[in-house]
Amino acid sequence: MRIKSLFFILCLFCMNVFAQEEALTSALYDSYTVYKETSLNKRRIKHHELQPLITAYRKNPRFTVKTVGQSIEGRDLNLISIGNGKTNVFLWSQMHGNEPTATQAIFDIFNFLESTDFKEEKRTILNNLTLHFLPMLNPDGAERYQRRNRLGIDINRDALQLQSPEGRTLKRVRDSLQADFGFNLHDQSTYYNAERTNKPATISYLAPAYNYEKEINEVRGNAMKVIAFMNKIIQQYAPGQVGKYNDDFEPRAFGDNIQKWGTSTILIESGGYSNDVEKQEIRKLNYVSILSAIYTIAKGSYTDIPLEDYWEIPENDRKLFDLKITNVNYKIFDKPYTLDIGMNRLEVNREDYNSFWYSSRIVDQGDLSTYYGYETLDATGYTIREGKVAPETIKIPSQLDEQTIVSLLKNGYTYVRCTNIPKDWDSSPLPIHLIGKTFKVPEFLLEVGVNPTFLLEKDGAIAYAVINGFLIDLFDNSKALYFIFNNAMLFR
Ligand SMILES: [Zn+2]
Repeated sequence: MRIKSLFFILCLFCMNVFAQEEALTSALYDSYTVYKETSLNKRRIKHHELQPLITAYRKNPRFTVKTVGQSIEGRDLNLISIGNGKTNVFLWSQMHGNEPTATQAIFDIFNFLESTDFKEEKRTILNNLTLHFLPMLNPDGAERYQRRNRLGIDINRDALQLQSPEGRTLKRVRDSLQADFGFNLHDQSTYYNAERTNKPATISYLAPAYNYEKEINEVRGNAMKVIAFMNKIIQQYAPGQVGKYNDDFEPRAFGDNIQKWGTSTILIESGGYSNDVEKQEIRKLNYVSILSAIYTIAKGSYTDIPLEDYWEIPENDRKLFDLKITNVNYKIFDKPYTLDIGMNRLEVNREDYNSFWYSSRIVDQGDLSTYYGYETLDATGYTIREGKVAPETIKIPSQLDEQTIVSLLKNGYTYVRCTNIPKDWDSSPLPIHLIGKTFKVPEFLLEVGVNPTFLLEKDGAIAYAVINGFLIDLFDNSKALYFIFNNAMLFR
């Protein structure tokens, strides 16, 4: 027996310091669906959707739930705590109302903590740490799916003035906990990439500076080490898709000040991931990496990570388009020119802020060789052709089946006149624009700011259509149009 346990201890010493963390990370990734909080399954989540979940934790003796403040419109801000350890870890999410990814991940983490699995790892976490979560710090912004709060200010520029009740709550909670670690959880634009690569910055990190000199003390150094640890995790599941934010000091920001007040502060920004519009894969990466980070903080093993690992994370850049078309011919006054075109699909909130439709824009054209696209087409040899209004007017949209639409596009028509467009439609669900009885389509121009709508012709045949920034391959029968397409425009 004694020999056996001695052997076990020796084995433990032989193991790579991070082997246990790595094993936990893979187990968390593989078992994720068990813990995913399925009632929160899209980005436009609202405060009232969180309340039944929080109420359940109020009744759960392992959790402590305290109402720590209220938003301007009177929505409760709740702090949910668990654990008995000396080290306080404070995590807050969604101080920008339209940045919900980590809020969802927090409820996944609660499901994990509440379950009876991973006993050993959870004992390590909860005996060494007390975890405090403040999900959805800006519920009024979330209600309208907007960045700012009801006062119209950016809470993340209110750390000094403390005019917003949400900002005051954040400061008061931080001060009362004197938290050792802080996780400042945000979303960033999906157009960020890891510098000089076509990889989206799916996750970006920052250990914010606490002064203009950008000095590194132990507090900030510890944040950098935990970030370096998390970067290694994300690299396994989204290789090359991590960026590091510029660390210029912003004296008004919470992250910078919380670092200054003595809490090792880790900024996490959830960005883009190919074909993950609702960011559910990124939410999973949040869950896995934050829980793994919590585990390494509990074990203290992050202290062995060299600071250089932090600086090796590539810088964030903003050089992605949703669609990039390169080397296309464009004729103006009958003379041909060669251009690249960058297009983005911009979300327009519906009135209830529960869903959205796309209104796309050309955002740049010319030499875009330093830019990248989630989707790209090399259009060498193709010429841009203007889309016309179909000669036949239809009564109702259902007269257009897929075959008819493909045939219209191949014949150079990108608009269909329709006499009875349903009143409640804000956009065309078909892969072709719908226009009202008298609408006049403006003169075709290829320029920044316009809706990307045109056809690509080669040897007299139209091979591709770009409708509202979505690329349609007219000769690819393998893909059903309706599935690769979200919406076209509707002009009454
Ligand atoms: Zn933010």
